Amino acid sequence: MISIADIARFCKEKGFVYQNSEIYNPLSGFWDFGPLGVELKNNIKSNWWKKFVQSREDVVGIDGAIFADKRLWEASGHIDNFTDALVECKKCKTRFRADQLIEDEIKMDVEGLSEEDLTQIIKKENIKCSKCQSELGDAKKFNMMFKTTVGPVEEKTNEVFLRPETCGLIFTNFRLVQENARLKLPFGIAQIGKAFRNEISPRDFLFRCREFEQMEMEFFTHPNKINDCPYYDEVKDIKINLFSAEDQSKAKKEHKKAKISDLTKLTSKWHTYWIAQAYKWFIDLGVNPENLRITQHPKEKLAHYASACFDIDYKFPFGWKEIYGNADRGQYDLNQHIKYSKRDLSIFDEETKEKVVPRVASEPSQGVDRAFLTFIFDAYNDDKERGNIVLKLHPKLAPIKVGIFPLVNKVKDEAKEVFNDIKEEFQATFDSSGSVGRRYARADEIGIPYCVTYDFDTKEKGIITIRDRDTTKQITIKLTNLKETLRKLLNKEIEFEKAGKLVK
Ligand SMILES: [Zn+2]
Repeated sequence: MISIADIARFCKEKGFVYQNSEIYNPLSGFWDFGPLGVELKNNIKSNWWKKFVQSREDVVGIDGAIFADKRLWEASGHIDNFTDALVECKKCKTRFRADQLIEDEIKMDVEGLSEEDLTQIIKKENIKCSKCQSELGDAKKFNMMFKTTVGPVEEKTNEVFLRPETCGLIFTNFRLVQENARLKLPFGIAQIGKAFRNEISPRDFLFRCREFEQMEMEFFTHPNKINDCPYYDEVKDIKINLFSAEDQSKAKKEHKKAKISDLTKLTSKWHTYWIAQAYKWFIDLGVNPENLRITQHPKEKLAHYASACFDIDYKFPFGWKEIYGNADRGQYDLNQHIKYSKRDLSIFDEETKEKVVPRVASEPSQGVDRAFLTFIFDAYNDDKERGNIVLKLHPKLAPIKVGIFPLVNKVKDEAKEVFNDIKEEFQATFDSSGSVGRRYARADEIGIPYCVTYDFDTKEKGIITIRDRDTTKQITIKLTNLKETLRKLLNKEIEFEKAGKLVK
């Protein structure tokens, strides 16, 4: 099975992801995206934005700043509670995240335990520094927000934090956005942007980084209308893997086959609807449904204000891991910001003719970087027959859509003309070096869905060949139809074999 280290190596070799500041001493938890990585990342974000913002009449977007008034993070509870428990080795001073250390050493699930409890377990189980085997100190609270100062003087009063999540800005701009976009309940406000967490021990490549990007939305409803979702029927029959809190408490911890409609026994229809949309987003972009599951947070792991929370997990080689979360946060956030800002953030509900503080019936939140990792893992195929990796990315995500190859050097100039024409519309690459087989292999490895070969038949008869990455089948079409055929193929509007004359 392919490991996370294999994927990291692959991503570096092909130009997807590099270690940050590699020519010096790389900072851990930071990654740079290369020529293919930036394209894949942008494609992930634009597909999300299109589905969750642009194609909807009830959702609008914002792009907030990285910095904000400190009181925002007081109101949201981040200053007091956005902490991890940290333990330090008494001798070599290496710092560990207490829960991870315990999990690694004695395979015990300690999520949500207090610093005192974690200290007790470390003492009782005689867990030592994994670097030098010396004794560890007590577990202490460590706030994960990065701190800096605004302006030339370093003082407590101008201390600011790099945002640990994007959604805070949605709440602070809530009233303006609602008025400007003339939104009526229910409606959503979405944002894609960077967030920063000073993780004690970043690990697993892009999975736990200190700088990352989020795609988030707050969906506001009238507090009493969390089940009035007019689109529920569109999603209710989608088949899912469901790992309910009940199944998690059983001896044999296994998810079950279920349908989206089963979620309504556990939470509201609006909440269910948005979870379904995210599940569908992954599947529509090519992720194997068998590698996805919806996991319910058990009551004891919920934040005090949340009435329900679900994750979408992906089956990575290092286990099922969360790639998406969605909580019903009630009226908690807006009430907190009303309290701290002393501003009226209630709005008039046209339907009931009353002023209400809306409820966040659904807060979908996901990391771009985790989605990136999910799509790469799911697309990665080591094809023994072909003798190369085939990265079966969905055409909508593929960094490069089309490869243009002149079969021989004699038609290179003509092929270049085709390339120049194609690249106006599609992300394309031109490759004339090495055998055609070698060029196909290179294209497979970086996930190019279609390769176009220009030969003498193209020059003389206007017939060009297209090869399909996933099947290696080839069709010929008229050169004059090339753009339109590629358009249809990339949008999956037509089957490959029916798009032209099958030759191989
Ligand atoms: Zn040590």
